[in-house]
Amino acid sequence: MENANIAEIFSSIQGEGPEAGIPYTFLRFTGCNLQCRYCDTEWANEPLESARVLKCSTDIAEHHFNPISAEDCLGILSGFKYRNLCFTGGEPMLQSEFIETILGGLKGKRLMMETNGTLRDNITPALLERIDVWSVDIKLPSVSGENVMDDNRYFLQRLENAKQVVIKTVFSDETPESELKAALSMADEFYKLNPRMSFVFQPVTEENRVLAGDNLEVICKLIDKYAFEIRVLPQVHKILKLL
Ligand code: SF4
Repeated sequence: MENANIAEIFSSIQGEGPEAGIPYTFLRFTGCNLQCRYCDTEWANEPLESARVLKCSTDIAEHHFNPISAEDCLGILSGFKYRNLCFTGGEPMLQSEFIETILGGLKGKRLMMETNGTLRDNITPALLERIDVWSVDIKLPSVSGENVMDDNRYFLQRLENAKQVVIKTVFSDETPESELKAALSMADEFYKLNPRMSFVFQPVTEENRVLAGDNLEVICKLIDKYAFEIRVLPQVHKILKLL
């Protein structure tokens, strides 16, 4: 695929997971195959006329009409100097063919794929070889309103040989313990396939408010049963009020 629908290309600080705080360039695609209840991406399921390009939060944004060609996308990205590049969305794996097309022009970049973990058929050998970090959601039905845990499990099975995997599970103060356990148990299954993984519990984060409730205590009691690394981290970029 030579063209993509892109929402934004911008530099910021990684706000989620174990790499929170690290400078990243974000290539954010439009479109998503899910409709999560807590989605904070209002255009996730709508095409945008143009992509916003912002090198630094103090710059004036440029706008590039969609769809954007692979060549133009690489041209825009060449103006961004951070070594780390994150494909995000929406759901970037919907446009995985385009991502494959631009991989050759991203030599020297460290690449992260931030995905909802439901489109296993779009994982290709080229992506497996080149993506440095897969950040994969396990979506809990009580939080997201979506029941895709089987899809998440099948997706993870395809990442057996991935270089590094971060599994992320968003929870709220209302998430039942059974769902927290189900996520950990799925991660444990995956850890036996690929020990290059870590796990992040991410409380629903609103500006100045983290909705974890008693579940922080519940998680603390559960985590010592597992051999893999588990962190609890809010969405740092919302607290810092970054993009
Ligand atoms: S997967 Fe992400 S972008 Fe898609 S609807 Fe859910 S939260 Fe929004």
